[in-house]
Amino acid sequence: MSTVLKDSYHRPIRDLRVSVTDRCNFRCFYCLPHGEPPIAPKEQMLSYEEIEYICDIFVELGIEKIRLTGGEPMMRRDIEQIIYKLAQLKTRGLRDLALTTNGYFLPHRAQSLKDAGLDRITISLDSLKSDVFKRMTGVDVLDRVLQGIAAAKSAGLQPIKINAVIVRGHNEEEVADFAAFAREHDVKMRFIEFMPLDSGHDWSREDVVSGREIRARIEERFPLEPIDIHRGSETATRYRFADDAPGEIGIIAPVTEPFCGACSRIRLTADGQIRTCLFSTVEHSLRDVVRDGTSRGEIIDFIESVVMKKEPRHYINDPGFVAPSRSMSFIGG
Ligand code: SAM
Repeated sequence: MSTVLKDSYHRPIRDLRVSVTDRCNFRCFYCLPHGEPPIAPKEQMLSYEEIEYICDIFVELGIEKIRLTGGEPMMRRDIEQIIYKLAQLKTRGLRDLALTTNGYFLPHRAQSLKDAGLDRITISLDSLKSDVFKRMTGVDVLDRVLQGIAAAKSAGLQPIKINAVIVRGHNEEEVADFAAFAREHDVKMRFIEFMPLDSGHDWSREDVVSGREIRARIEERFPLEPIDIHRGSETATRYRFADDAPGEIGIIAPVTEPFCGACSRIRLTADGQIRTCLFSTVEHSLRDVVRDGTSRGEIIDFIESVVMKKEPRHYINDPGFVAPSRSMSFIGG
């Protein structure tokens, strides 16, 4: 009989985000702004067998959704193998296997992800203009990412979600253009507020474009209707286009409208640390526990005790807020 992981605030934990690598081929300024980040030595990273074993245990504990992320998860050459192994967990309670990528490798590998058993994909796209895309990501590859989105669609990795982090002075003027893109390509556009998770610790509140402003910018061109007022543990507030056009809008506003009360997420870093919140300042080494030859039952005890330490909420808006030392690329977005 499967149990359900719960934290000390009785929140069921159903959603595991697994970072499979801390390496990335992009240098998004809101994530890795200052040159080459230190990458963990290979022996500290979880092998695909370890990822499979740990995910198997989490599924036994009631995890229904696994999202693979990074760094850039497609920089791992065994990503299809990881997906194939994790897809087998669908017979044991896993319902949804997703991946977040910058899209660079998709033109040639979208089909192999689908064939390996991936259900869904989220692709990051911060601008539809080549020069802004290059300024934000550090690489001049907008056309290739657009080809990647088309390849994901042809491979049947639908519904496709597109993530755009909106940052003041960079891409806020493009918000309605992104909505037009969602309508034209029938994708779910997700607008994300800029969070203090950049390695340079350069984040400033003035750079945040609020969810409210994002919605207003879209509605100047395309009126929206809320999809589901009871969003449960979803990070996004979702909208459809009032004129019934294809596509969908989601606004993720963790800074101005925190949704911690319904959080169902837990994270595993590429070097095997459990993080109970994106903004945790402490981590718990599941890797060491697993490598110590600990029994499955003791590993379960360890996971349950860590989950009980999940923070009630993040503290971004408190005066004494301390940003986590690791950037999103290490934590896994
Ligand atoms: N490399 C993959 C990608 O580009 O999608 C997966 C990892 S990336 C860290 C996951 C998501 O986190 C991306 O959509 C990225 O835009 C978002 N992200 C990174 N740093 C962020 C920040 N400081 N604030 C908000 N979102 C951020």
